[in-house]
Amino acid sequence: MTPHAKQASQIVDRAVDEARIPRAQAEWLAARMAEPEVLAILQQGAHESKTRAQDQKVSFSRNVFIPLTNLCRDRCAYCTFAKTPDSPEAKTCSLDEVADLAKAGAKMGCSEALFCLGDKPEIAYRSHKQWLSAAGFASTAEYLVEACRVSFESGMLPHTNAGILTAEEMTALRRWNASMGLMLESTSPRLRGKGQAHQYAPDKDPKLRLRMHEEAGELRIPFTSGMLIGIGEADAERVDTLFAIRDLHDRHQHIQEAIIQPFHPKPGTRMRWASSLPDSAVVGWVAMARLVLGRDIQIQAPPNLAPNLIGELMRSGVSDWGGVSPITVDYINPEAPWPALAELRDRCQAAGQALVERLPVYPRHLSKPDFFDPAVLAATRAMANDEGYARSRLRLEAA
Ligand code: SF4
Repeated sequence: MTPHAKQASQIVDRAVDEARIPRAQAEWLAARMAEPEVLAILQQGAHESKTRAQDQKVSFSRNVFIPLTNLCRDRCAYCTFAKTPDSPEAKTCSLDEVADLAKAGAKMGCSEALFCLGDKPEIAYRSHKQWLSAAGFASTAEYLVEACRVSFESGMLPHTNAGILTAEEMTALRRWNASMGLMLESTSPRLRGKGQAHQYAPDKDPKLRLRMHEEAGELRIPFTSGMLIGIGEADAERVDTLFAIRDLHDRHQHIQEAIIQPFHPKPGTRMRWASSLPDSAVVGWVAMARLVLGRDIQIQAPPNLAPNLIGELMRSGVSDWGGVSPITVDYINPEAPWPALAELRDRCQAAGQALVERLPVYPRHLSKPDFFDPAVLAATRAMANDEGYARSRLRLEAA
């Protein structure tokens, strides 16, 4: 064993036992993660930590993806989701379309209506503001509240990811949402600099994103956060991002999951020539997230963004695959199809794990009524089994 591997082993063993790792030790591991022996120790520790937290289970949510509008006032250098109003692909869903998607989802046994949309497009585009106004809404957020009501009343549990929202907007959305989310992405202010990924994305200011996480905690909203890796941030900034999520959860106990999402260059974007991270770094940062975030917070990796790494991710502390939809594509990454659920189940089994279906809320938060509007809590619990996972409306075997 190399001296670094020996030291890594001591750090990781202690972190697993205490479900906590000091920042200096996380930074030490991050700086040596590229060494194969250190990476293997980090993965083993993360896997052990995950097993102590969630046994041999990996969860997913059966969802319907509703891209309420793909207009956005920001222009992130890696994004293909956002369109301008003059694009033939620009689209804002009508409330009838929302209802149709929600009803189709409910019929297919889905529980989650995942609302993903661009950030405050009415600020950038007068045509969208006029469209909202003609429909009787002052803002996209106000329209979103109505869309969430429609999908909730169609039998689905909304989970909203709409970029930066005010506390008032989150309060209105909480009335219909089982959970909400915002990728923190990175705490690095450098990424807003000239030539960087977020130069033209004012809503990617880390201060705004941290504030929204804080306010979601104060409002008692089960919350999804996450880190986008490979968009120009340094190792120390990734560690900082993970510790920011941990600190938020320490204060409010509201972070239910953290997505560790690897960047992939896409044609037509400003970052099309940038390189993806090596697979070893992707699994290493998943493992690091598990060690830093402890046992309360589930670590999620989207299986469609790393299809060749599914087994490796399960050996690195992943405990959730996120939303997998039987009827809609991943509108953020339409080039990356979701695996069939039966295939995902088989790959979990091959890694000694059981694939379990969850709701947009994890069992841990379902036992905390103060995190929900009473009607949402009642609807969510009605869809849960005794363990707090989804009552199987469809058998995975038939997926
Ligand atoms: S905020 Fe989201 S939707 Fe808007 S450009 Fe950035 S990644 Fe795309």
